[in-house]
Amino acid sequence: MKFGVYIQVPFCQTKCTYCNFHTGVVSRERYEPYAAAVCRELAQTAASMASEMREVSVDTIYFGGGTPSLLEPVALKNILQSLRDNFCFERPARQESAGINEAEVTLEADPETITSEKAEAWLRAGFNRISLGAQSFSDTELQAAGRMHRRVDIFAAATVLREAGFRNISIDLIAGLAHQARESWEESVTQLLRIRPEHLSIYMLEIDEGSRLGKESLAGGKRYSAAEIPADDSIAEFYDSACRRLADGGYEHYEISNWALPDMRSRHNLKYWQRQPYLGFGAGAHSFDGVKRWSNVHDSAQYVTCIEQGTSPREQIETVTSAQALEEELFLGLRQLEGIDLERIERDYHVNLRKRIAPLAQQGLIEIDGTRLRLATDRLTVSNEVFVELLG
Ligand code: SF4
Repeated sequence: MKFGVYIQVPFCQTKCTYCNFHTGVVSRERYEPYAAAVCRELAQTAASMASEMREVSVDTIYFGGGTPSLLEPVALKNILQSLRDNFCFERPARQESAGINEAEVTLEADPETITSEKAEAWLRAGFNRISLGAQSFSDTELQAAGRMHRRVDIFAAATVLREAGFRNISIDLIAGLAHQARESWEESVTQLLRIRPEHLSIYMLEIDEGSRLGKESLAGGKRYSAAEIPADDSIAEFYDSACRRLADGGYEHYEISNWALPDMRSRHNLKYWQRQPYLGFGAGAHSFDGVKRWSNVHDSAQYVTCIEQGTSPREQIETVTSAQALEEELFLGLRQLEGIDLERIERDYHVNLRKRIAPLAQQGLIEIDGTRLRLATDRLTVSNEVFVELLG
């Protein structure tokens, strides 16, 4: 069995106005003990899985956050070394042993944290993919969102990463930031296409009520520019325009929020949408072994204490019921533009979904092509409504 490994690094330099993740701005002194705790958790988990170890191998690793690029390169290297020491890696055909380099190893990085020294150290440590949180090429939008980097830092980061030797770079943009207008959005897409990353993600801003931006949109105020958030229709237009321009640029749109050049899809993220197993390490990290889902405690200090005391940081362990698994198949599977195999799902879950699907197909929201069921490509911006109908 192959599985993915996710490493959560819940630290950021500042809190973005739209963010309500369990991440925090903490003293740098807490980074090193945290990285050491992750190494210990990896070793403890591998020891507890000893009997299954011969049958499993890791083929994707993803360091997300937070801002994992804030950790010193040596701390990131130590975590990868702990993975090498404790887990097996996918073995390519006709090769006796395999190393970490055969896996897809991603590091999320913020543009302003990247230097050539760091990029070279990351590559030497075993990272072969960088996911760059650019979000926008407009300084006005970046500033209002509380981001530390500016447009110039994105260009500098992309150059440094290419010069260091990275051949697999992903860049994120957000449609719907405060002050975003048609012109500034088109300019962001133009610059993205100019850098030509192998992979890119576009997220439509959903305002979380717990974020500073969300609170301001409810209570009023000017500090975070909540009144300058574009209307939903405009955000949908930005997204649709990007879909057209990225297709013209040779990118395959393979998931609602994700595009890739041929053969450059995110192998790690595909595991989530295809319900394949993955193990998460670090504070708040989630895991799924194919049967059960669980997560670690969110508080990073509490997480480190658990690991240092030898107690389990796991909480919220639940066995996925057949009804929940079916919901996940639909909700996660339909995010992929290739859709899902309706016949297989009906067979595996002993259900007939045709009745639920018929009205959605009539409204042109979903398409059935043989046994494939997929979201209509011109209605992706209303995917949430489809999911509500389908799962309701
Ligand atoms: S960098 Fe990411 S995780 Fe950190 S505050 Fe900003 S949006 Fe949240």
